[in-house]
Amino acid sequence: MKRYSAFAVAREALSYHTGWGRAWRAPEPKSRYDVVIVGAGGHGLATAYYLGKNFGITNVAVLEKGWLGGGNTGRNTTIIRSNYLQDSSAAIFEKARALYEGLSQDLNYNVMFSPRGCLMLAQTQSEVRGYQRTAHANALQGVQTEWVGPQRVKELVPIINIDGPRYPVLGGLWQARGGTARHDAVAWGYARACSAMGMDIIQQCEVTGVRREGGKVVGVDTSKGAIDCGKLGMVVAGHSGALAEMAGFRLPIESVALQALVSEPIKPCMDVVVMANTVHGYMSQSDKGEMVIGGGTDSFNNYTQRGSFHHIEHTLAALIETFPMVSRLKMLRQWGGIVDMTGDRSPILSKTPVEGIFINCGWGTGGFKAIPGSGWAFAELMAKGHAPLADDFSLDRFTEGRFIDESVAAGVAH
Ligand SMILES: Cc1cc2nc3c(=O)[nH]c(=O)nc-3n(C[C@H](O)[C@H](O)[C@H](O)COP(=O)(O)OP(=O)(O)OC[C@H]3O[C@@H](n4cnc5c(N)ncnc54)[C@H](O)[C@@H]3O)c2cc1C
Repeated sequence: MKRYSAFAVAREALSYHTGWGRAWRAPEPKSRYDVVIVGAGGHGLATAYYLGKNFGITNVAVLEKGWLGGGNTGRNTTIIRSNYLQDSSAAIFEKARALYEGLSQDLNYNVMFSPRGCLMLAQTQSEVRGYQRTAHANALQGVQTEWVGPQRVKELVPIINIDGPRYPVLGGLWQARGGTARHDAVAWGYARACSAMGMDIIQQCEVTGVRREGGKVVGVDTSKGAIDCGKLGMVVAGHSGALAEMAGFRLPIESVALQALVSEPIKPCMDVVVMANTVHGYMSQSDKGEMVIGGGTDSFNNYTQRGSFHHIEHTLAALIETFPMVSRLKMLRQWGGIVDMTGDRSPILSKTPVEGIFINCGWGTGGFKAIPGSGWAFAELMAKGHAPLADDFSLDRFTEGRFIDESVAAGVAH
């Protein structure tokens, strides 16, 4: 793999940029791998990367039915933060945020991590109490956040209307090192690094069956033929229920579409990420100038990766109360992604009833921010059978009642 650097760009300029190779190989599948990961979203690719980097396991294939990063990883609004309430969540999300800080250097690929700061507005008294509690919890967890008053909110976000009309801004939970990253680049960077380690990333390869013998996984059937494996990682977000069914077990997961939209590009007007959960919308400005706006989930289970008109209307009507300038923006695009929701709004990183099958899902509306930490922890779980950052998120918690309730921190009301 050719390293990307200023010198490489200069060298290539002399030969009219004809010397760049493919960022990752496009191999045909082999008949067997030590580890097969299903799903080339951020979590699947990060898992493969840390299996290689941290445990030297490189006989790995990542199978993707569509194109790399074409699931939720390429559809999200890219918010990165770690201001969760429960200790187990703060640990894995803060690990992820910390890894994001050096990810471009680690992968030798610019993921455009932008720690511009993330502000969660409190617009009701219960939100004030909730976020102040989270700020105290974060202080104990070593996660740097602070509670800020309305005047500081106005300084951070001059375009905001802190006076109402229905919900005045009463303050906010501010994480200065939260922010955004370029979502496709995260998938591409991990893919390139995996490919460089000799792993096979196979696109247009749908897993259609899971083969078991004596309660143990032995391989998968795919649209490109059968592939044997020693261990299988299922990392398919909204399709986790369908894949688990192929392997003969059920998951406490619901799949729904989560929607987002972007405006026309405008001059820089907001240099932080703002989430307004009471009125129900969140917004940041992309490098191109578009306002990136996140809405809510559909209120019924579905597998459509589409947006819908009533969501645009609902989300913008809500945001206009807090950001009046939004009323004069034209909207350019809308879309949806299928998110995998658990009852306690926390992820699942776990062994399964089938020996050799591990599952990583349930990130719901908030898994982009977790990609490096999730990959780190899930790789350790797959390599060693347990992992300090993952153990609390096992499937057992649903039968033992050890829920990790993050319904407030999950960001959008669902
Ligand atoms: C509109 C929207 C906004 C969001 N905003 C944010 C945000 O601001 N911040 C944040 O942290 N999170 C956000 N999220 C959530 C985040 O995008 C997801 O939690 C995260 O991307 C999940 O990554 P993943 O790798 O698990 O899944 P995905 O990226 O969905 O990857 C799973 C892959 O598995 C593949 N697959 C499925 N079935 C099969 C099969 N049978 N065989 C082979 N491959 C298969 C799919 O094609 C897909 O590419 C948002 C999500 C959406 C939809």
